[in-house]
Amino acid sequence: PPVGYPGRLLELKGNIRVLCRLRPGTPCGLVSTEPGPGGIVTTCYRGRQRRFRLDWVFPPDASQEEVFRELQPAVLSCLRGYSVCIVTYGQTGTGKTYSMEGPPEDPGIAPRALQSLFREMGAGGQHRVTLSMVEIYNEAVRDLLAPGPPERLAVRQGPAGQGEIQVAGLTHWDIPNLETLQQMLSLGRSNRATAATAMNRHSSRSHALVTLTLHAASPPLGRGTTGTLHLVDLAGSERAWKAGAAGAAPGDKDRAQRLREARTINRSLLALGGVMAALRARRPHVPFRDSQLTRLLQPALGPGATAVLLLQISTRPGDLGETVCSLKFAERVG
Ligand code: ADP
Ligand code: MG
Repeated sequence: PPVGYPGRLLELKGNIRVLCRLRPGTPCGLVSTEPGPGGIVTTCYRGRQRRFRLDWVFPPDASQEEVFRELQPAVLSCLRGYSVCIVTYGQTGTGKTYSMEGPPEDPGIAPRALQSLFREMGAGGQHRVTLSMVEIYNEAVRDLLAPGPPERLAVRQGPAGQGEIQVAGLTHWDIPNLETLQQMLSLGRSNRATAATAMNRHSSRSHALVTLTLHAASPPLGRGTTGTLHLVDLAGSERAWKAGAAGAAPGDKDRAQRLREARTINRSLLALGGVMAALRARRPHVPFRDSQLTRLLQPALGPGATAVLLLQISTRPGDLGETVCSLKFAERVG
C-alpha cells in the first residue's frame, strides 16, 4: 500500500481490510461491539459466546460520513493508479445498499466516493474517466448500461489463464463530469430493478458491480497511469434453506427458482471467500475462476490492489445465526 498517506486503513498490512457496520435497531444484548481499529464483535448464540476481531468496527450509530471517512484515502488512491475495490457483504436487510448508495438525503459510499474523486481531479482534464456497470444473476453477467435491454455477456480470459478478463460487448461510457456520472448510475440502478421485475425476482438476489476507470494523461506520483474503483453491492448472504422456506409449497416454480438463486449466490460468495482467504495466506493458486464474481473482480483483488469488505450485520435475535455466519466469513478472509 502507499506509504505516508493519511488513511489509517491503508496503513494496515495486507491488501484486504474487513470493516463491520451494524444495522441500527434495538440492541438485544446478544451482539455487542468494541468499536475502532482492531475492533471486536461479540455474539452470544445458542448459549455460546464468540469474539470476532476485525480490522475496523464502526460504533452502532455510525453515520454515512463516518463510514466514508475511513474509505476516502483508499478511494483517492485510484487517482495515483491504484486499484481499489469496496464490497458490501451481509444478509438481506442489514444495510448493504444503504451503506453503498444511501437515500438521496443521506448519500452512501458510492456517491461520496465519486464526488470526492471529481472534486480532487478538479477541472484540470488530467484524467479521462470511464464507467461500466454490470449485474450478476445466476452466474449470468448483464450490462446495466447497454443502450438496449440488458443482454447476457460472455466473460473471457486472456491466453493461458493470464491477461485481462474481458467481458465481451460491455459498454464503457466516457464520463465528462459528476453530473453525467450520477445520471448514468441512476440509469443503471433503474435497469437493475427493471431486469429483476422482468425475471420475477428481487434485485437483492443479484450482485451489482460499478467500475470506474481513471486514465491519467501523464503518469502521476504513484503506481501507474490507470486506476480503478470497483463498488460492489453483493446479493444477500442468507443461507439457502431460509430462501427456500420463504417460498411457496414444494414443486412450486417460484420455490425452485428461489432455491437455484440461493445456491448460485452461496457458491459465488464462497468463491469470493476462497479467493480472499487464498490471497491473505499468499497461496500460489488463487481460485479466481470459481465464479463470475471472482473472475470479474480478479484485477481488483490481485497484488497491489486494495480490497475493502464492509460487513453489514443485524443485531436482531432472530438474525443471530446469519450474523454469526457473516462474522465467520469475515474471520476467514480478513
Ligand atoms: P440490504 O441492501 O442489505 O438488503 P438495505 O440497505 O436495503 O439492506 O437496508 C434495509 C433497511 O434498513 C432499509 O430500509 C434501510 O433504509 C435501513 N437501514 C439500513 N442501514 C441503515 C442505517 N445505518 N441507518 C438507517 N437506516 C438503515
Ligand atoms: Mg440491497
